[in-house]
Amino acid sequence: MSDRELYCDTCEGVVLFEAPTCVDGHGADCPELVCTGCGAAVLIATFAFRAPRLAQRHAPTAPPHRRAA
Ligand SMILES: [Zn+2]
Ligand SMILES: [Zn+2]
Repeated sequence: MSDRELYCDTCEGVVLFEAPTCVDGHGADCPELVCTGCGAAVLIATFAFRAPRLAQRHAPTAPPHRRAA
């Protein structure tokens, strides 16, 4: 299920790609595949990518500046 054949530029041919262990929490939607021939990682784009969460690092609730009194 996780393996598929794709064209690899490095291998210059169609080779078997397999899904690496996802460390980004994509789960079943992980777009990453690794060439079993040369080990190059690729991203597949056969599905619509979600917009990257650019505002993720912004803390929504900053603690108010208050002095101990
Ligand atoms: Zn992933
Ligand atoms: Zn390759």
